[in-house]
Amino acid sequence: MDWNTWLAAVEPTLRAGHEAIVPKDLPHPSEVGFSRPFIAEPHGQKDDWVYSLGDGSRIHIHEFEHSLVAHIDPHDPAKGPGIAFLHWTTESASGRMFLVTTTLWVLLRFLK
Ligand SMILES: [Zn+2]
Repeated sequence: MDWNTWLAAVEPTLRAGHEAIVPKDLPHPSEVGFSRPFIAEPHGQKDDWVYSLGDGSRIHIHEFEHSLVAHIDPHDPAKGPGIAFLHWTTESASGRMFLVTTTLWVLLRFLK
């Protein structure tokens, strides 16, 4: 199997917000055009690989010690700082926490 065949097969799963384990017989992401993201939230992975898709999303792979796990980020942070902020606040735990904390702060500050 190659990456294109595998991605075509799992894309509906990834688009639905699920993760998929990359088959071990595929070449390493670094060998097929994936690059390291500027920043990645730690989930126990030892490395991260991303590949921008044409529609503004990206494939994101967490490289663990013995496996590669892929998901799709609907907003590719490489598309610009606004998109990076959108990605961070909607697709990461720390970003969601930031939004909740900021919203609470604003409410407490101004709704007295
Ligand atoms: Zn991601």
